[in-house]
Amino acid sequence: MTGRILPNLLNPLDRPSVVPFPAPARRGPREKLPAAELRQAFEADKSDAEIAEEFGCSRQLVAMKRAKLGLRRRAKGGEKRPPSRFAPKTATERSVRIPPVDHPALSEDRTIYPATVTPVDRLLNVLVSGVNHWKIGGAIAKGAWAGFPVYTLTLEERATCPDSCRHWRSCYGNNMHHAKRVQAGRALEDRLGHELAVLQSRHPAGFAVRLHVLGDFYSVAYVDLWAAFIDRFPALHVFGFTARIDGRRDPIASALVRLVLARWDRFAIRFSNAPVDECATVTVEHPRQVPADAVLCPQQVGKTDSCSTCALCWQSRRRIAFLQH
Ligand code: SF4
Repeated sequence: MTGRILPNLLNPLDRPSVVPFPAPARRGPREKLPAAELRQAFEADKSDAEIAEEFGCSRQLVAMKRAKLGLRRRAKGGEKRPPSRFAPKTATERSVRIPPVDHPALSEDRTIYPATVTPVDRLLNVLVSGVNHWKIGGAIAKGAWAGFPVYTLTLEERATCPDSCRHWRSCYGNNMHHAKRVQAGRALEDRLGHELAVLQSRHPAGFAVRLHVLGDFYSVAYVDLWAAFIDRFPALHVFGFTARIDGRRDPIASALVRLVLARWDRFAIRFSNAPVDECATVTVEHPRQVPADAVLCPQQVGKTDSCSTCALCWQSRRRIAFLQH
């Protein structure tokens, strides 16, 4: 015990007694959510909202501290939640956010997250490793392109897409509020030339570029630029999808058809929901609706982790069916 030894002044023959010091006052503000108490509440199966209310703090603070302490919640049914946003997800785990029909983004041809559109001069690189994307993967594991590292390009959805796109409203980008969308235009086109030249010298045996995680080919000149890149950089291999399928009315679509037919071996861009038998995709609501000539995307049903471990989209010209997200 710490304290002060005081003599008994009324009876000096008595042994002096120890008078304890009062507990020292805490300096600074008291910690709002001490780790031990958070752990206790978590183990008592309290929700973040209940803990926040009990400790008078925000739910975000609870979630943040819980993550720091490694206290993960289990999803219903005892399944562990995916460890990060980069973890593989199947179609049954994805849900899409559909904005109301009068959302301004739909009539103004733009993303619903305009703050994520980034000018090229604010980006170190516009081509980003596929390792950052749970469905794409960082390096191709099979097929003719095995061993190629994968890079992705993400543009702004709707701003670069045809308004005939079947997913104009239910765009996959509605769920991607973290994704940086590279601003399309001259600066992007100049930068692509530089970055592809660097990748060509870094990976002379081959590398792949996934066009476009979001967005689409936005001009004939931009399609022609990719045609020139294919000629200039022999290591470059491209795969992806386009909603530009109306070759009779859309000159961008007809430029793409010409390029795909001429260079499918290195420019495997599929036409989404196009009424053609090859190099296309079809959207279905249920696996039993997959047409006989199509293959259901194996990643969506958990048969493979990512495009990098699948390779079907560029190995085969057969139609690929996707479950509607
Ligand atoms: S079929 Fe394979 S390569 Fe094509 S999108 Fe699905 S996982 Fe990717």
